[in-house]
Amino acid sequence: MSTLITNIGELVTNQPDEQAGGAGFAAVADAAMVIDDARVAWTGPASRAPAADQAVDAAGRAVLPGFVDSHAHLVFAGERSAEFAARMAGQPYRAGGIRSTVAATRAAADDQLRANVGRLAAEMLAQGTTTFECKSGYGLTVGDEARAVAIAAEFTREVTYLGAHVVPPEFEADPAGYVELVCGPMLDACAPAARWVDVFCERGAFGRDEAAAVLAAGTAAGLQPRVHANQLGPGPGVQLAVRAGAASADHCTYLDDVDVDALASSSTVATLLPGVEFSTRQPYPDARRLLDAGAVVALATDCNPGSCFTSSMPLCIALAVREMRMTTQEAVWAATAGGARALRRADVGHLGVGASADFIILNAPSHTYLAYRPGVPLVGAAWRAGALARN
Ligand SMILES: [Zn+2]
Repeated sequence: MSTLITNIGELVTNQPDEQAGGAGFAAVADAAMVIDDARVAWTGPASRAPAADQAVDAAGRAVLPGFVDSHAHLVFAGERSAEFAARMAGQPYRAGGIRSTVAATRAAADDQLRANVGRLAAEMLAQGTTTFECKSGYGLTVGDEARAVAIAAEFTREVTYLGAHVVPPEFEADPAGYVELVCGPMLDACAPAARWVDVFCERGAFGRDEAAAVLAAGTAAGLQPRVHANQLGPGPGVQLAVRAGAASADHCTYLDDVDVDALASSSTVATLLPGVEFSTRQPYPDARRLLDAGAVVALATDCNPGSCFTSSMPLCIALAVREMRMTTQEAVWAATAGGARALRRADVGHLGVGASADFIILNAPSHTYLAYRPGVPLVGAAWRAGALARN
């Protein structure tokens, strides 16, 4: 069954003319797209569109690849709105935020965790996200982490084992013992349901050697590395990620020249999470410096109950444009094709021929409206694998 989406005001394909060289944002005005079963079969000017079994009139609206949110922590219980309100009121941050979520998550029934992921996944889809990554990291026991990756795998194939999120209270006096657990029995229990291994490499979480050990063990178990790096201050995370061949170094808020060069000369994507800086009132990462150096930049939400409880990629795009001086084209590319790069996925994040037909119809004539009309729900419909997933 083929479907013609016609009368598209702006079709963002992220498929630049090969001869123009390089990857990047690309769009066609007054366009059409044909999807055949689950794949994109044709894109181009509406006047030249081939026939199809059925047609959908986009009424001059914009069509974009579905957003690819490459960083989210959705398997948790409880919430921390009081902590957020206190932070906004200027009260000092009190340690133990993550630990309160760990306690609530351990106490939750499977169905409660499953319902929470399902609710957030539906929220994401309503805002145009058609692919998302989901991490464990609020269980921190063998059983609770294995449960978290298994539940995440019910909703996405991009499942990340994050046993190395923080050292749980029962290992406070023995952090080395916890790293051994993360690299041993916990990894063995989680690897079958996960694709990725991640570590929070930061002062107060895991240092360079510990993080390197976690990534090496995960890689040996068949997982691919990604790293929480340089969020709260300068540190070894970015260079560790590049050396480990990580798909992505996430946060990248505090970088020196060596970090920027390392990202620019590697295939490791710099994933920026501006919702975190917004929600913690911290300085934004320097996206322009990374882009101008030639690094590949992705945008993601980091949706989690503590530092950033938004599931909205449109908000991240608006922040990236307004606060981080990315162009609207750069921000949309980073939220689609950039996220796909950060997940090493060639089938999503663009609408080239052969791509998965994952796309959204905006109630607006162009991608610019995502930043021009911040906070307005502009996503009209979302299609996944050629089927209408949300209208
Ligand atoms: Zn995170």
